[in-house]
Amino acid sequence: MTIKWIGSPNFDSNRKPIDRIVIHWFGAGRLTGVDAQFQKLNGTSAHYAIEDTTVHQYVKEANTAYHAGVYTMNQRSIGIEHSATPDRPASEETYKTSGALVAQIAKRYNIPLDRAHILKHSEVKATRCCGTVDIDKIIRLAKGESSDTNMTDQQAQDYVKAIQKKYSVFYKAEDVFKYIDERANEIRALQEAMGVQKKDISSLKAELITKDKAITVLEKTVEVTQNKAVADLAKMEIDCQKKIDDLKSAYAIDSENTIDKYKEEIKKLKESGTTVEVPTETALKVRFKDKTPIEKLTAMLEIIGA
Ligand SMILES: [Zn+2]
Repeated sequence: MTIKWIGSPNFDSNRKPIDRIVIHWFGAGRLTGVDAQFQKLNGTSAHYAIEDTTVHQYVKEANTAYHAGVYTMNQRSIGIEHSATPDRPASEETYKTSGALVAQIAKRYNIPLDRAHILKHSEVKATRCCGTVDIDKIIRLAKGESSDTNMTDQQAQDYVKAIQKKYSVFYKAEDVFKYIDERANEIRALQEAMGVQKKDISSLKAELITKDKAITVLEKTVEVTQNKAVADLAKMEIDCQKKIDDLKSAYAIDSENTIDKYKEEIKKLKESGTTVEVPTETALKVRFKDKTPIEKLTAMLEIIGA
């Protein structure tokens, strides 16, 4: 649907929430006459006028147009003029265009497509308007139009649901129950999610406690091992010292019988010209009584070789 903007000086911006559509007829003349009439200063206006497939707009929907003759109704409504007179009924094209336009407006403001919300001008104020224009037909067409959109059924349902949720407005008891069910489901899902999280937290806690216990056990084990290692080391030190002492005592050389002393003795004897006799085994046994076989041999060779 193409809407041609014409404009009018007769409007104001003192608007109330839009919840009504008021249906008018030309009563006389054609669309060009309506265009001219709404240009008159301090005169009347409407938001739209329809003639066959042509739609003219004079006042923006966000502004109040002067069409109903009752200002409070003007503030809350959209006014639509229809090309029809006492001798010329509205054409099928005009009805079809009107149905489409009313459907669009109703959808925009969530206005129910019923006779409580779509009004004849004469239902607002005593007037002949909207004459022969069949308002029920417009509503029927608008309903058909609103269901015959490009939306899929699912999209349409979602749209209605979104509107209902946003404004908490319901037209059917079953919608209220559905809404309550949905909220209840949401709460249940939330509770379930929280339950899972609680479970997660408790299992995490259990895991931490187990780990903490394991750490304590490990610490104790390390302590025991450490203590044992220290004790072992101390024992080893004692053992080593004992071994060293044993070795020391085992290989102790009598200070009186050092090899150097014998060497010197032999040297003196040699200098004095005395013949050096090889010590007898018995003499050696006595001299080296506490020495190991290798020490004995070394000492003996030293004596002989010197
Ligand atoms: Zn009227």
